[in-house]
Amino acid sequence: MEDKDCIFCKLAGGEIPSATIYENSDFRVFMDVAPANRGHVLIVPKEHFKDIFDIDAMTAGKLFSLATEVARAMKSVLNCDGMNLVQNNGTVAGQTVFHFHLHLIPRYANDGVKIGWQPGESSPTELQELAKEIRKKI
Ligand code: 5GP
Ligand code: ZN
Repeated sequence: MEDKDCIFCKLAGGEIPSATIYENSDFRVFMDVAPANRGHVLIVPKEHFKDIFDIDAMTAGKLFSLATEVARAMKSVLNCDGMNLVQNNGTVAGQTVFHFHLHLIPRYANDGVKIGWQPGESSPTELQELAKEIRKKI
């Protein structure tokens, strides 16, 4: 169901034009307008899901399956050395468009693009406890 105020609903539905690589009944794949690096691509479901907590497993599975094909096509055209798949959920995590999307960001040697975090610290007990609590909910 389209959200009338959502820019990605309009892009995915074709109401707003985009540099589209591929589309089918479920998804549109297009170039990010403000790329983190040359060839930055977005995969967007046509249905409005806010984030990973909202999207259903079947659609997410199909999306990731499509991502493998898109990633290989990008690699062959862009000749990139690597690729980051990024998917932000919530403002605190850097999400700015609240319609689920997967970023495919090609990486080139010494490109200077910054994605990531500083390694933190943990204790084996804490890791086991957290794993147990989360496991209970799956
Ligand atoms: P987020 O920060 O929510 O994970 O990513 C949103 C992404 O959407 C950003 O990389 C931004 O450049 C991209 N974006 C926002 N508006 C448009 C648009 O109108 N067209 C395209 N092609 N990309 C957009
Ligand atoms: Zn939407």
